[in-house]
Amino acid sequence: MRGKVKWFSREKGYGFITDEQARDHYFSVQDVRGADLPASGDQVQFQSQDTSQGLRASAIQLVARSEDGRRSDDRVKCGNCGRKMVPRIISYQGQVERSVCPFCAETYCDFLPPSTSIWGWVVVVVFILVAFIGWF
Ligand SMILES: [Zn+2]
Repeated sequence: MRGKVKWFSREKGYGFITDEQARDHYFSVQDVRGADLPASGDQVQFQSQDTSQGLRASAIQLVARSEDGRRSDDRVKCGNCGRKMVPRIISYQGQVERSVCPFCAETYCDFLPPSTSIWGWVVVVVFILVAFIGWF
């Protein structure tokens, strides 16, 4: 059946899916098929099981990312190694300094001085979103 991820904690490794009848299904990370972990708001397809502990989802497959998920999945191409990546933010003494490629550690974007770069802040906001959604 189809459903929508109500929430999923990557740290805890479990979450809930709401089906089309508005019933919540528990699921754990082991129930997810494929390498992509779901995020809140994602559309998924799954099998519903009625267990003694309540409804449980298994064989979960992502159908469509939510708007937030798509936005945070906007990967960029590293100019050095050419891989698709989400830049990691390097901060020094609480101030965002630059972002680097997680594969080759090459600087992707310099944020210093941060106030001169609106694009830098856009990347920071996206990074915070990514961190919040829990894709890292
Ligand atoms: Zn790289």
